[in-house]
Amino acid sequence: MSDNGLVTSQINKVMKALHPGLSIDTKQHDIFIPYYVANDVNDLFICLTTRQLLSACKYSFVLTIDCTYKITTNELPLLVFGTSNCNHRFYPMGICLISTDQSADTFRTLFRGIQQSAVNNQAYTISHVVADGSPGLTSAMSEISLARRLMYWFHMIRKCREHRKLIKNKNKWLLVEKDIFNAQLIFDDQILAIVTRFIMGIIGTVLIYERAVSLAPSTNNELESLNGRIKKDYTLRNRRPLSAFLKTAERMLIDWSTDSEKKPFQLHATYKNHLKLAAYTWLQQVDETQILQVNPNVYVVLSKNENMSTTIWVQQFYAVAWSSYDEFSNWLNSARLVNCSRLLPPLFCTCQTSLKESTCVHALGLLMLWGSQSMPQLIGKRKGKGRPKKVKLPLSKD
Ligand SMILES: [Zn+2]
Repeated sequence: MSDNGLVTSQINKVMKALHPGLSIDTKQHDIFIPYYVANDVNDLFICLTTRQLLSACKYSFVLTIDCTYKITTNELPLLVFGTSNCNHRFYPMGICLISTDQSADTFRTLFRGIQQSAVNNQAYTISHVVADGSPGLTSAMSEISLARRLMYWFHMIRKCREHRKLIKNKNKWLLVEKDIFNAQLIFDDQILAIVTRFIMGIIGTVLIYERAVSLAPSTNNELESLNGRIKKDYTLRNRRPLSAFLKTAERMLIDWSTDSEKKPFQLHATYKNHLKLAAYTWLQQVDETQILQVNPNVYVVLSKNENMSTTIWVQQFYAVAWSSYDEFSNWLNSARLVNCSRLLPPLFCTCQTSLKESTCVHALGLLMLWGSQSMPQLIGKRKGKGRPKKVKLPLSKD
C-alpha cells in the first residue's frame, strides 16, 4: 500500500489483513476495531482497542482526549482517549488514527462510536470531556449534551497568553496571570461565572476550571506524559509509514492492555504516611471553634492565609458579592470547604493539595478529629537506661 495517500480499498485491505471480518473478538487482549470510517485519507477514522482497555469506561465517566502528531508519514494525527484513576494513573481506552483533529466530525464520530460500541454490553455515559481548546471539539459536544467540557489548566493558561498583547504593561500581565492561577482553586459554578467576568474584562477569554470534576482527576498530565512515551518507546520519534505504524500500534495496545490488567483501576487512593503526619500536626494547631458545619457533610476550616472568621467566610460565600478580583481572591484563600461524605480518598477540599493529590490535611485531619481515621503512630520518647522504675510484681502462685 502507498504511504502517501490512501483510498478506501487500501484502507480496507489493511483492516482485513489486521483483522479479518472485523468481528468482535472474545479475548481480553486481542486488538479489534469497534468502528471506523474510511472514505479516503481526508476522511479517515480508525479506532483500535482491546476489551480490557475499553473496560476502563466502567469506572469513570470522565473522558480525556489528546492528539499526538508527527508519527506517520501521512501526517495523520493519533488520537488517544482514556481516563485516570484517583491516583492519577492514566488508563488508555483506545487509539484512533484520524485524518484531522480540526473537524467537529472527528469528535462526533469518537463520541458516537464509544457510546455505541457496546462491546462489553455496557452503556458508557460521559459526564466530562477533558481536552485542549480545539474548536472542532466544542461544536461536537452537542453530541453528548449532558456532558461538560473541561479544558486542562495548561491549555487554558496558554489560551490566555495568546491574548496577552491586550495588556501592554508586562508587569500588569504577570499580575493577571497570577490571578488566573489563583482562579484554579474555584470550586463553584456561580463563583466561576463572577470571576470570569472580572478576568474577561481584562483579557476576554474563556476560563474553564479543573475543579469541575469534584472527585476525579481532571488534569491531562497523565495523558500528555503517555503521549511522550508513545514517541519515546514506540515510534522512536520518527514518522513511520502507515503499515509499519499500525504494527507498532498493535504492539503498544497489547502492552497497555496487559499492563492495565496487572494494575487494575483503583477507585480509592491510599493515605500516604507523610500526609497522615501532616494532618495530625494540622489538627494539633487548628482552632476547633472555627470549624464550621454548613450541611451534614460539608465543613469550612480556616486556611493558612486566614483573614476572616469561617462565619464571615460562609456569609460571603452565600452572598457572592465581591466588588473586585482582589476582594474575591482574599476571600477564596481565607478558608477551605471540605466535603467529608467519604472516609477514603478521593476526598474533596478546595485547597491546592487536594486538587493535585485527591486528599489533604484538612479532610484527613477532620476525619481524625472524629475518630473515623486513626492518628499516625508517633515515635515516642526513648526510654532511659536501666530498668523501669515501677517493677511489676512477680506472678503469684496459684
Ligand atoms: Zn484541603
